[in-house]
Amino acid sequence: MTSAIGWYGPLVDLCKTDHHIGDIVQLLVFVHRSTPVQYKLSKGGEVIRTDIQVGDDTLPFFSVSLWKKQMGTMVVAGDILLLQNVKITKFGHAVEARTVEWSSLVSLVHPYGSLLSKGVDELIEESQVGKTTLEKLCKVIKWVQRARSALNTIGSHSFVKPRNWKLPKQSESQNLLLLSEVLGLSNSCNAIFNASIGEIFLPITWRALDDSDKEKMFVSRRTMEDKDNSLAEDFICIGCHLCGSPLVSENGSICKQNNISLYCPKSPNHLHAVTLIYRPFMLYVWDESEYLPLLVRNKAAVVLFGNIRAERVYSCFRGQNRSHNSNQAYFCRENNPEAVEKGLVGSCSSDADKSLEVKEKNHHNKNTNFHLIWLVLLKILLQQGKNSPLKFEATVNTSLDTEHGKFEMLSVSVPCARNKLFSG
Ligand SMILES: [Zn+2]
Repeated sequence: MTSAIGWYGPLVDLCKTDHHIGDIVQLLVFVHRSTPVQYKLSKGGEVIRTDIQVGDDTLPFFSVSLWKKQMGTMVVAGDILLLQNVKITKFGHAVEARTVEWSSLVSLVHPYGSLLSKGVDELIEESQVGKTTLEKLCKVIKWVQRARSALNTIGSHSFVKPRNWKLPKQSESQNLLLLSEVLGLSNSCNAIFNASIGEIFLPITWRALDDSDKEKMFVSRRTMEDKDNSLAEDFICIGCHLCGSPLVSENGSICKQNNISLYCPKSPNHLHAVTLIYRPFMLYVWDESEYLPLLVRNKAAVVLFGNIRAERVYSCFRGQNRSHNSNQAYFCRENNPEAVEKGLVGSCSSDADKSLEVKEKNHHNKNTNFHLIWLVLLKILLQQGKNSPLKFEATVNTSLDTEHGKFEMLSVSVPCARNKLFSG
């Protein structure tokens, strides 16, 4: 389409990206919103992905994930960008673009104010781009200017932040905070706020990951892939269900006592209560004002996952994997306690084993596949833009950094909708 140096693929309209799965392409887009997900790993290093929501004259909303820190910081909502050499990928039914090593970006129109105040000719005057790119730029500028009343719903302090959720109808109590207010709290306290779930980040530190595998830490993508069957193994480990501390070391064996906290801070007798738990993870929640990373430990995770405990998920997962009969693949193998036990024996001591009681607990739920239910729940929770906001309660501990629980989730609930559907 164009022969500019350094281009490895055609400039394509967003509506046609599904014809280019796996290809490297160029995109010329308007940026609706930019959301970084960043996390400092305990071993050093930082995982960063910036999700940007973009649009053009052929498709109003499209997702691009940027894996380069510098690129993430260059993107400003309201800009028109040329994304060079990005790869089109497909997760489940969703098509999106992501950067590769040789991706780059050029800002063509900045700031947003000029996009509204200037004419097309004036805006493209200084653009040093090829003919095809220039034609596309004109189309995108005209589209934004035409659609600006629909796009620009926010006041003057920031540009467009389209809602990606439905607003609750009832009037909220006054103790509800905006995420920007929670982030600005200077004293430790509890905070209650409504927010939408954007991403679950699971820091994988117990096994080696190469760079291409870093994506496995972003759970939303994995829930869209049918092939990924290892979520339960990554999410669940041996640990204390009271304080949520994993009691396995990085390589999977039980921690030596000097590596873990000897006393349980949440137990009256200071002893850890060992069982299978959800590993601590970060839940990224968003509202219109900000995004906030919440640390979620086992107890809160159980609430988030519909009161399904980790051991139930895991025993069904193991049973399912051991089943050779595809007709039974979706059902637990309660009559195969060996499978359950063996799955656990690989990674826990006999002490831990004794406390598991998996067998007994599952007798009540013979044909319920908690693994499958859990996977469906995860998938539903992570459907960005399709869920109403949830009401969170979190502790704010200003003496900690984000990765260690500055904001830690206590509970979550569906805000009570006092609508008048049935009032006649
Ligand atoms: Zn404990």
